[in-house]
Amino acid sequence: MHRAILKKNLADLPLTPNWLDSVQAREAFSWQVQAHALAGLPGGGLNLAYEAVDRHAQGAHRRHTALRILDRNGGGCDISYGELSTLSNRFASVLKTLGVRPGERVFVLCGRGLELYLGVLGGLKLGCVVSPLFCAFGPQPIETRMRLGEGSVLLTSAALYRRKVAAIRERLPALKHVLLFDDQGGDTAQIEGTLNLHQLLAQADEAFTVADTTADSPALLHFTSGTTGTPKGVLHVHGAALTHYVTGKYALDLHPDDVFWCSADPGWVTGTSYGIFAPLLLGVTSVVEGNEFDAERWYRILEQQQVTVWYTAPTAIRLLMKAGAALARSHHFPSLRFIASVGEPLNPEAVWWGKEVLGLPIHDNWWQTETGGIMIANTVAMPIKPGSMGKPLPGVEAAVVTRAQGQALVFLGDNEVGDLALKQPWPAMFRAYLGQEERYRHCFVGEWYLSGDLVRRDADGYYWFIGRSDDVIKSAGHLIGPFEVESSLMEHPAVAEAAVIGKPDPLLGETVKAFVSLKHGFAASQALHDELLGHGRKRLGAVVAPKELEFVEALPRTRSGKLMRRLLKARELGLPEGDTSSLERPS
Ligand code: ATP
Ligand code: MG
Repeated sequence: MHRAILKKNLADLPLTPNWLDSVQAREAFSWQVQAHALAGLPGGGLNLAYEAVDRHAQGAHRRHTALRILDRNGGGCDISYGELSTLSNRFASVLKTLGVRPGERVFVLCGRGLELYLGVLGGLKLGCVVSPLFCAFGPQPIETRMRLGEGSVLLTSAALYRRKVAAIRERLPALKHVLLFDDQGGDTAQIEGTLNLHQLLAQADEAFTVADTTADSPALLHFTSGTTGTPKGVLHVHGAALTHYVTGKYALDLHPDDVFWCSADPGWVTGTSYGIFAPLLLGVTSVVEGNEFDAERWYRILEQQQVTVWYTAPTAIRLLMKAGAALARSHHFPSLRFIASVGEPLNPEAVWWGKEVLGLPIHDNWWQTETGGIMIANTVAMPIKPGSMGKPLPGVEAAVVTRAQGQALVFLGDNEVGDLALKQPWPAMFRAYLGQEERYRHCFVGEWYLSGDLVRRDADGYYWFIGRSDDVIKSAGHLIGPFEVESSLMEHPAVAEAAVIGKPDPLLGETVKAFVSLKHGFAASQALHDELLGHGRKRLGAVVAPKELEFVEALPRTRSGKLMRRLLKARELGLPEGDTSSLERPS
C-alpha cells in the first residue's frame, strides 16, 4: 500500500522551478504583468503564430531548434525558429495568393510533421481560423466537422485525401482549396481538384506581413473528444497565447534549454496547446513524433533525444505499465526531470509506478477543450497526493459549486462534492460552441464557468476528480464517482482496466455495475468474479461497491483514450449508442 503523499525535496531538483507553489506566488500573479512576455504586433494587435515563432525568429533565438522532427527509423530533421518563421510565411503567402481571406476556416488533416506546423502557423498568420483534425478519423467524422466548421481550405497528404476525403468532397460545398503534400514518397501524381503544397511553397513569397488580429480575434476551432455525446466545436482566440505561455511556464516548468515532448495528437486540443504553442511560446525545442504507440520506441525517444519534460496521457502510461518494468529499466533517462499527464483521471498506481520505474512521479493535471489550457495541476515543487489532479495554477480561480434552482450558485466547502467552476475570464477561455449559442450561455453563471466535471477540494486545497456529471451514479441517496470505484478495482492484481456505470434500480435509484478486463495471465471465472465483488465491498463499503460485475475483453474508449461509459450504459440498457465518431475500436 502506498503512502498518501509523495513528498519532494526541493534541494534534489536539478533546476529551480518556475513556480515554488507558495501562496505569495499566487497572490503576486497578474495576467497584465505576464502579458509583458509577449511582444504584440507592431500595430498593437496580437497574433498567436507571431508570438510563437516570429518573436523568437527576430531575436537571439533565430538559430535555436524549434522542432526536432523524428522519422520512424530514429533519424530526423531540425527546424530552427528562423526557418519555421520563413516557412510559415510561405504558407501564409500561398493562401493569400489563392485569395483566401482572414476569418476563413483552414482545416489541417496532418500527422505530426512539418506540414502540420506550417498549416497551423501559416493559417494563423493570415488571420484564418485553423481547425486540426485527427488523421485516424474516417470520412464521416471528417465530413461532419468540416461541414459544421465550413472549412474553405484543407491541408492534407495525398494518401489521406485519397482514402478519406475524395469520396466526400462533393458534400463539402464550402471547400474551395485542397492542398496536398506527399507523405508516402513517390505518390506525386496530380489528383484532380487539388494543389501541390510543396510546389506552391517553393514559388511563394517568404516575406509576409502578419494580419492585424487582436487578442479577441478567432484563431482555433477544436472539437471536443465526444466522450459524453456529439463532439462540440469549440472556438478559441489569439489571446489564448497568454494562457499557453503561462501554463507552459508554471504547470510544465519549461526552461529555455528544455527538450520537450508532448505525445498527444494535434487532433485533440492537447496536441495543439502543448504540442504546438506552449513550447514555441517559451522558445524551447519540441520533439515531434508522429508514429503510433510503441513502448520500446517511446523509451528510445526519451533516452536518445534527451527529453527533459514529457507531457503524456493516462492511456499511454497504462500501455507502458503493461509493457513491463524490465523494458523501462533497460533504458536510462538522466535528462528527464518532469513528467505530466492529462485527459483522464490518473490512478494513484500510475503516479507511483512512474516514481518506481522511471525514477519520476507522474504529475496529473486537469483541463478541457473549453479551457484552452491547463487550469489545475500538480507542479514540480508541490508534494503530490496521488489520485488528485493538484491545485489551481496562478491566475486561475476555482471553486466547487452547485447550481441551485433559479441559477444562483451555492459555493461548497472543503470535501463537499460539486461542480468544478472557474472564474471567468482567462485568456484561453473558449468564446463559442459553434452553432450552439444557448449551450454556450448555459455554461456560465455570473462570473463563473461551470465545467461539467464533479470534484471535491480537500483542506489543503487539492482538487479530486469525482466524475463527469453525466457519469456520476446516484445510489441510495449517495453520489458515487466512477473513478474512485474503478481505481479501487484496479488495485486488484488481476484487473487491467475497469469502468463502472449506474443501472436504474427501483429501490436504490441506481446500482453500480462494473466492467472489468483482466491482465495477461488471468482468466475470467466465477471465483474471480466473486473475489472482485468482495474486494470492492471491503475497500469501498457496501453502498459504493459494484453489485454486478462483467468481464470484457476491452473497454470502449475514444481515440484519445478516454473511457466512454455512456456506450457501456447504452449497451447495457439497450438504448441507442449515439455519436460514435470518436470511438477507438468499434465492437
Ligand atoms: P465531450 O465534451 O465531447 O464529451 P471530452 O470532455 O472528453 O469530450 P475533452 O475536452 O478532450 O473532451 O476532455 C476534457 C475532459 O476530460 C474533462 O472535462 C474531464 O472530464 C476529463 N479530464 C481531463 N483531464 C483530466 C484529469 N486530469 N482528471 C480527470 N479527468 C480529466
Ligand atoms: Mg467535455
